[in-house]
Amino acid sequence: MLPLLSEKKVTLYLKREDEIHPFISGNKYRKLKYNLTAALHEGFKTVLTFGGAYSNHIAATAYAAWEAGFKSIGIIRGEELVDRWKTNPTLQFAHSCGMQFQFVSRTSYREKTTQLFLNDLREAHGHFYLIPEGGTNALAVQGCREIITATDAGFDLLCSSVGTGGTLAGIIAAAHQGQRVIGFPALKGDFLKEDIRSFATRDNWSLQTDYHFGGYAKVDEPLVRFINDFKHKTGIPLDPVYTGKMLFGILDLVKKDFFVPKTRILAIHTGGLQGIAGMNSKLKKKKLPQIDL
Ligand SMILES: *Cc1c(COP(=O)(O)O)cnc(C)c1O
Repeated sequence: MLPLLSEKKVTLYLKREDEIHPFISGNKYRKLKYNLTAALHEGFKTVLTFGGAYSNHIAATAYAAWEAGFKSIGIIRGEELVDRWKTNPTLQFAHSCGMQFQFVSRTSYREKTTQLFLNDLREAHGHFYLIPEGGTNALAVQGCREIITATDAGFDLLCSSVGTGGTLAGIIAAAHQGQRVIGFPALKGDFLKEDIRSFATRDNWSLQTDYHFGGYAKVDEPLVRFINDFKHKTGIPLDPVYTGKMLFGILDLVKKDFFVPKTRILAIHTGGLQGIAGMNSKLKKKKLPQIDL
């Protein structure tokens, strides 16, 4: 246990969603579950989705699609990866699950939700079930409700990291009466609140926007040291893009007496550990300390 918690009389539990499946990381399992069921029922043979080079969503979709018997296509941001993807652990893994890649420039990647772009994709790849970037849609939110169960009713506060907000929306919907939900965005931007509101109708939640560490997938030395120290003290590995930032934020707020004594917090470990290898190779190039494996 961390001395800070007993000193401040705050209880913190981590729900280990990172351990629910060996390859389909944490919340991505929840988000894919009803999407793949729907794709199966609707008779699709192929699923197509989008992501960056180190995307947990790409890795999870590739494995889940393979397991369910689908062909999978990944539209990957960054044309330069065409001849570099073999040294990228995430893409290597996705490829080993049979995912077929199409690498696109950052400019066309931004167009990925337009009708024109989708028409081109249908022409190139035929009929497919589309899973949006990050996997967030109504069926994903439905799956994420299952993160919170009856046994979680004793907590005052539920915390989760936020990317697109789909996971948080599910937690907001499933929170028990009287529970508050706090999201920790892993990226900068004000659009998140609106995105979350489009899926979540309750007002039991808020965002802590000070813990993005400069933006999506940006890390610095203090964050790496925090992740290593946390693992050393608790035995629990955290990922640098999402859960590391959330836990850093929660403990910083504890330190600042943001939570009243006796607050019982349940933080969701949403997974993402597959991304550590890729992040470490980036840290190495920048001569920064590595995340302990
Ligand atoms: C994708 C991801 C998130 C963010 O989930 P959203 O539903 O997009 O907000 C959080 N944690 C991990 C580990 C993830 O892989």
